[in-house]
Amino acid sequence: MRVISSNQEMSQACREAAKPIGLVPTMGALHAGHLSLVEQARADNLTVVVSIFVNPAQFGDQKDLQAYPRDMEGDLNMLRRHGVDLVYAPTVDEVYPEGFDTWVDVGPLAGKLEGLHRPGHFRGVATVVSKLFNVTRPDRAYFGQKDGQQTVVIQKLARDLDIGVEVVVMPTIREPDGLAMSSRNVQLTSGQRHAAPVVYQALCQAYLLWTSGEKNGDALREAAKNVLEAEPMVDSIDYVSVASMTTLDEVELVDGRVMVSAAARMGPVRLIDNIVLE
Ligand code: AMP
Repeated sequence: MRVISSNQEMSQACREAAKPIGLVPTMGALHAGHLSLVEQARADNLTVVVSIFVNPAQFGDQKDLQAYPRDMEGDLNMLRRHGVDLVYAPTVDEVYPEGFDTWVDVGPLAGKLEGLHRPGHFRGVATVVSKLFNVTRPDRAYFGQKDGQQTVVIQKLARDLDIGVEVVVMPTIREPDGLAMSSRNVQLTSGQRHAAPVVYQALCQAYLLWTSGEKNGDALREAAKNVLEAEPMVDSIDYVSVASMTTLDEVELVDGRVMVSAAARMGPVRLIDNIVLE
């Protein structure tokens, strides 16, 4: 496994690599969710590239960026064991050299849900993912359903800019109690960690209601919100959404692919999760 920090060296390694190339973009502090993407990439491609880069451009809050978990050595060991060929781990200066001034804006999709609560977040994501695509020129790129809106934004980006990459979306990997795995979960206190599955439970409540025949968006949002509000460890709820997977607009009636998603704060951690009704 080669670990490369220079974008020129990475471009060259990818030009010379056996095709097809599968890219798994990450911010490191890897867990089983990330590894499921790596395993799928390994099964589908001759070369697997994993990027590890905590992207300052997608963080609104400097404290959040500083506190983001990092474990390069542990990550590299895991990736070695999973048969990864190339790791791209650039510095911030390598990605955003002095004078960097070009940004990728994905339009209205990026302004909803997470975008409303984290202004500029998807501009940072879309820009860094575009750069990763340009450096590595992957045939396929792997993203987790855990970040549901991100998958929609990246698919739109790839289509609109004719990137020619197949975007592969993999299911959310959960802890045994239902909590979606996330690098940030280590920041929860044990009390918060104990309560954190409430976000998934809220989504499941909406799902149950839907399977019993309820199609009304407000009723599903209300059901999920009630579960979150009943948990004292939830400090605040950013949103509970039942939205079209295509437009990310809230739906009045469930019809077609619909994503039920929620974001709630628990101490220092903002928990996000979603399920798809289809
Ligand atoms: P991150 O390092 O958090 O930026 O995540 C890198 C990639 O891994 C993204 O495509 C995430 O959606 C995906 N990912 C993170 N957590 C999970 C999970 N629990 N299950 C599946 N994919 C995940």
